[in-house]
Amino acid sequence: MKTHVKALVVGGGAVGTSIAYHLAKAGWDDVMLLERDELTSGSTWHAAGLLPYFNMSFATTHIHDYSIKFYKTLEEETGLDAGFFIVGNLRMAQTKERMDEYMVYATTAETCGVPYEWMTPAQIKERWPLVNVEGLEGAIYHPTDGYINPADVTMAMAKGARQRGVVIERKWQVDGYEWTGSEWKVTLTKMGEKGGNLVPTEETQVITAEHVVTATGNHAQRTAKLLGIKIPAIPVEHQFIVTEPDPELVKYREAGNEQHPVLRDADAKWYVREERGGWILGPYELNAPACFQYGVPDSFRADLFPLDLERIEEEYMSMIERIPSTETVGLKDDFNGPICYTPDGNPLIGPAPGLRNMWLAEGFSFGITAAGGAGYYLAQMMVEGEADIDMASLDPKRFGDWQTIDWAVEKNEESYEHVYILHHPDEERPAARPLRTAPAYERQKALGAQFGCVNGWERPNYYGPLDAPESFDHDARSFRRGGWWKYAMEEAKAIREGVGLIDATAFAKHTVRGNGATEFLDQFTCNKLPKIGRINLTYALTSAGTTRTEYTIVRNGENDYYLVSAGAWQAYDHDYLVKAAEDFMEQTGKLVIIQDVTTQWGVFAIAGPKTRDVLNEVIRDADPATALSNKRFPWLSARQIELGMCPVNAIRVAYTGELGWELHHPIEMQAYLWDLLMKAGEKHGLKPVGARAQNWLRQEKSYRAFGNELGRDATPAEADLPRFIDNSKEFYGKAEMEAKGVRSKCCTLLIDGPEDADPWGREVLYTPEGERVGRLTSGGYSVAFEQSIGMGYIKPELAVEGTKLKVKMFDKLWDATVTCDSPYDPKNETIRKDG
Ligand SMILES: Cc1cc2nc3c(=O)[nH]c(=O)nc-3n(C[C@H](O)[C@H](O)[C@H](O)COP(=O)(O)OP(=O)(O)OC[C@H]3O[C@@H](n4cnc5c(N)ncnc54)[C@H](O)[C@@H]3O)c2cc1C
Repeated sequence: MKTHVKALVVGGGAVGTSIAYHLAKAGWDDVMLLERDELTSGSTWHAAGLLPYFNMSFATTHIHDYSIKFYKTLEEETGLDAGFFIVGNLRMAQTKERMDEYMVYATTAETCGVPYEWMTPAQIKERWPLVNVEGLEGAIYHPTDGYINPADVTMAMAKGARQRGVVIERKWQVDGYEWTGSEWKVTLTKMGEKGGNLVPTEETQVITAEHVVTATGNHAQRTAKLLGIKIPAIPVEHQFIVTEPDPELVKYREAGNEQHPVLRDADAKWYVREERGGWILGPYELNAPACFQYGVPDSFRADLFPLDLERIEEEYMSMIERIPSTETVGLKDDFNGPICYTPDGNPLIGPAPGLRNMWLAEGFSFGITAAGGAGYYLAQMMVEGEADIDMASLDPKRFGDWQTIDWAVEKNEESYEHVYILHHPDEERPAARPLRTAPAYERQKALGAQFGCVNGWERPNYYGPLDAPESFDHDARSFRRGGWWKYAMEEAKAIREGVGLIDATAFAKHTVRGNGATEFLDQFTCNKLPKIGRINLTYALTSAGTTRTEYTIVRNGENDYYLVSAGAWQAYDHDYLVKAAEDFMEQTGKLVIIQDVTTQWGVFAIAGPKTRDVLNEVIRDADPATALSNKRFPWLSARQIELGMCPVNAIRVAYTGELGWELHHPIEMQAYLWDLLMKAGEKHGLKPVGARAQNWLRQEKSYRAFGNELGRDATPAEADLPRFIDNSKEFYGKAEMEAKGVRSKCCTLLIDGPEDADPWGREVLYTPEGERVGRLTSGGYSVAFEQSIGMGYIKPELAVEGTKLKVKMFDKLWDATVTCDSPYDPKNETIRKDG
């Protein structure tokens, strides 16, 4: 057995096998895959093998698209039949709202070039004659996907991997990981058989590896323990049943007809596909329990749980109603197995938190569908430094260190239940909430706040009616303008015309100090560092020159900085910052001390033309009338002020693009400060404002949002931010950014869309002649222009003011015009206003 490799992949399911294959394909010739039992003996062996394209996320759509195309090539490469049946995939809708969902999905699919067709009930019947189409609105049909044999495709990938030099060792279990400073020392135990169980033998081995990837499926909790990190991948019980042959189906096929496409009745929460003259029914029922949250018992091998027919009775009966020929068909087989989930239902793919050269590929619930693409894009990250697509939405660090097993269990069970719910873009999932609340939470709630969840924090999305029933926000959701829209509009207007107060406590906050702080930040970020007392907006780049993080940097002293970044990405930003600082210290011997102070500081953003009127009432200063004047408190500066009895680090910036300040305050004084400001604001019409209005307003100013316009698939130059790039200095990722040029460019568009809907920021863009030229990354409504607004990426030559484009919304093309950068107040006059 080899004792040193470049990359060691742990886990021989579909995912690990694909990763090993793709690492070898990407050029690494020293890759080993370890499996504690047999290949496919985890969840992979009992998967139903469906390969659905349907997914609302841009990154995941790319991953699924790659898998489907890749699996079609495997037989030619390996000579092994991967068992791919391209039968198509027909997803039915019982309601107009479900059709809206499909249309929102379809425009995202188009951004990735995924083909689809629409079907009327009559066309569904033609394509799927055994179905009862009563009560159906229509369907979306994917002609190019279908289902695959999970074991066959894994074996084909394993053969392909071996052909490319990968060594696959079975019956070796990884029992320990140790980082030596330059490589991983991995301890293994040879596994043996005893009474049908898999048991450790006396034989052990140590392997050193430059990189390790864990793809341990249901064993993720054990992996987490071995690594000393948290991995919120916990399985949920999932079942499917196989029926006896259905005489009607047998007759249909004997008449020479092709296989039926996979059929999904999302509103009834099930899928059905053909299986040897009978059917497979796969329900996503309520109350499926999580399992193995403290690890997989030794006695559980390639085992299954007993069938729980009662739990899926509703879905079973609904199948009989929809496919009447199944009524008299008996059950032949059943599968109830662990299926790994994560709190948001997406896998965890990327660098492990806090560790070097340790990569996670865990928590796959559609792992057969995702394996190909996950392997491809993870190998890109490992071999080239970055993937072609922004993998942040799948990054293992998108859940903070505050997570616990109980939390993950609740969220993962919810993710399972939510597979077939309507995936409203304005959805806020309810499980395990409220959990992280700042002191003003109850006060905001009393004012009608409807909360969203950002990195676990409760943050007001908008303020609804005071007497709103519990279900208000749920009922207010829509694929078009939801019931919350009018409240967000009033809030946006309040900021443009009066004054509003936004809770931005969720922001990630770090201090950077030490004798190397200035030198470190100067090479870590692309903009000039601010002078003492001033602030700057700047970007940390990836090794590929794309945007890794956006920071507002406040400089409090020569080597004393306060960094503010997006709230949703606290752990993700922390990890990158700390690792970069460690590298710097090793290279220079200078000291950089990073502290995550997110939970110590609350943040309120107060903005609007009447902001000074409110703050002047409560600021304690020898001359309150001038304390906030341009002279004493210029735009883009920071000062320590006192608001009543609360010490505040005030920063003169406003993400809404209006005159305003961010008020960073000790979190324990937040309730006091909230009361103080709300009371002072009474006579000035101060309105509490939520994140939805803020999101619209920042688009009027073309302020890019992290995770939307800013991410690892575009450079700051492509985000069209030249004023925040200091070309006169050297910084990390600069050469790579320059080498990339500008492949596509960020712009803002005003949109004449449907009367009852705005874009969500996932829509495809065309020229009037019909050429696909880009996509939106943000969308909403502009109160200043009284029409829809969006931001997105298009071909650079089109990103000029006045270019006419078309945006696809609800299956129609609508006029969109590229505006100037910052169409509202392009000269920043209101934001700089003196007073
Ligand atoms: C009933 C059911 C139906 C499903 N249907 C579908 C479907 O239709 N389509 C779809 O896309 N997905 C489906 N899935 C989900 C799919 O099965 C999983 O997402 C997929 O198999 C995950 O693959 P994996 O490689 O991540 O994990 P696994 O297949 O579980 O592989 C992990 C491997 O790691 C090994 N391992 C763990 N720890 C160690 C260690 N320390 N040392 C060495 N080896 C280790 C394990 O032995 C195991 O073989 C279904 C799941 C279930 C339960």
